[in-house]
Amino acid sequence: MDNPSLITVPVPLGDRAYDILVGRGLIASAGARIAALGARAAAIVTDEHVGPLYAHALAASLEAQGLRVSVTALAPGEATKSYAGLERVCDAVLAAKIERGDLVVALGGGVIGDLAGFAAAVVRRGVRFVQVPTTLLSQVDSSVGGKTGINSRHGKNLVGAFHQPSLVIADTALLDTLPIREMRAGYAEVAKYGLIDDERFFAWCEGNWSGIFAGSLARDKAVAQSCRAKAAVVVRDEHETGDRALLNLGHTFGHALEKITAYDSARLVHGEGVAIGLALAFRFSASLGLCPLADAERVEAHLKATGLPTRLSQVPGGCGTVDELLAAMAQDKKVKGGALTFILARGIGQSFIAPGIEAETVRRFLASEID
Ligand code: NAD
Ligand code: MG
Repeated sequence: MDNPSLITVPVPLGDRAYDILVGRGLIASAGARIAALGARAAAIVTDEHVGPLYAHALAASLEAQGLRVSVTALAPGEATKSYAGLERVCDAVLAAKIERGDLVVALGGGVIGDLAGFAAAVVRRGVRFVQVPTTLLSQVDSSVGGKTGINSRHGKNLVGAFHQPSLVIADTALLDTLPIREMRAGYAEVAKYGLIDDERFFAWCEGNWSGIFAGSLARDKAVAQSCRAKAAVVVRDEHETGDRALLNLGHTFGHALEKITAYDSARLVHGEGVAIGLALAFRFSASLGLCPLADAERVEAHLKATGLPTRLSQVPGGCGTVDELLAAMAQDKKVKGGALTFILARGIGQSFIAPGIEAETVRRFLASEID
């Protein structure tokens, strides 16, 4: 199992503690690592893009360890994170005779991780699961922290459970086949960790982003550092009652834009919304006199350099009116008593939770951005 580029990021959550393994080519040894968890069977859940690329290698590596393996591939895309998708995965896991000691293995992006993780949380009142994330977003964000779930007609991620994985295997070579747009979208979350509380990491990203995209060792380092950053927040606040909200930097604006573009990934993917949201959060902070304008400009310049959008005018098909944006933000679950909660910043790496921001203040800022 030796791997020269293996980085281990522990997530110390007491009896739910687990490791995140980051490195190029880890899928070849995934079977041995998963077998070491003591399961006799593994139900691989994947999607129809990822399955043909990687399910065979993963299944072979598990079978080589004597595990009984099944593979279920669902349609790619957010629509799969649904009651229908959940039913399919639960039934596939039961058909594979997965017992309490066995494992569900999520091989895919955040859609598959959230869905398979939720199925694992509820099948037989909870079976263990392993995440093998295959998008940059899922390697740096969704596979860490134990949030699982599906979408409802009432909104995204409204039906779910906290269910921590037993292991996360982030093979950074899998990202070599990721479409560039998905790569950029995941990168917005990487940059976010620097912007939250780590100016040095942000500066390192400014110098190394092209290596992250190209797949040099910088990619492994960026994934590992992002996992460390997220794990630190999750360990402080596993169930999102406080600090974990910092991870929503850029997301109040971002979610509103996703809603306005009807979650149509042809128009906007989550990370693109987050990139615009990050730039907006810093400009909003600057407009409130909290943060130097130079920092807001530096954030925008970096995101732009990677090809990410940073302006409302870049939303394909339009971002809607100020009122539509405000209404979309007010529906977000981070609203308390009419006022909005934002994550604002005093500078790069100095973000904080700002509850009680009046709608009128947001309106004035958005109007200045739309002009
Ligand atoms: P995704 O799972 O839809 O994957 C994006 C696209 O890339 C899909 O078409 C997929 O088939 C394809 N793909 C995946 N891996 C590939 C690879 N290696 N090569 C080629 N193609 C590949 O999207 P995502 O961005 O990974 O995840 C988004 C989801 O994650 C959303 O549903 C979001 O709600 C969720 N999420 C969850 C958390 C959490 O904490 N649980 C955090 C952030 C986001
Ligand atoms: Mg996000």
